[in-house]
Amino acid sequence: MQSCAEWIRDNFEDVTNLDSDDLNRAGEIPPDSVYTRMKNVNSLIIHHSATTTGCAEVFRALHRAINGWFDIGYHFVIGNGSLSEDGEVEEGRPQWAVGAHAREHNADTIGICLVGDFSDIHPTEDQMKSLGMLLKSLLSDYGLSSSSIILHRDLSGCKTVCPGENLTKDMIINAIPLQ
Ligand SMILES: [Zn+2]
Repeated sequence: MQSCAEWIRDNFEDVTNLDSDDLNRAGEIPPDSVYTRMKNVNSLIIHHSATTTGCAEVFRALHRAINGWFDIGYHFVIGNGSLSEDGEVEEGRPQWAVGAHAREHNADTIGICLVGDFSDIHPTEDQMKSLGMLLKSLLSDYGLSSSSIILHRDLSGCKTVCPGENLTKDMIINAIPLQ
């Protein structure tokens, strides 16, 4: 498996003006002082990356270099075996910090991104298993019911197909372990 840092070095020089020092730093975690603290978590928003490969470090670097943000937009990334293990859950932005994953809905939502383009392919079995377990623990931590799990495309005012037609709310609910 190629490392995330190698992927960044191989793929970024063409698309950004970053020099090699910047590229080496692009995937690093920023200090806590850059974040805004989240007051309340009301919903858990599900995304796909719309890319074939990815991992938290690569999305962190992309969101910095391409979007000009100070950190990755998502709170969690669930790998597909490309740049992280299949079903591996990586932390992105700290859970207590406001994310950048759903315009006008970031102030009180957690963003979870599964690597893959589910307009095209299907999430892996291991990704769904990990998503189910992660959601179970987040629902319990925040005292939320499964109605708080929302697909990005179902948010009011969001014009997107994310997370793709091959990932549905029913599949997600079914993936949550009962006990
Ligand atoms: Zn999305």
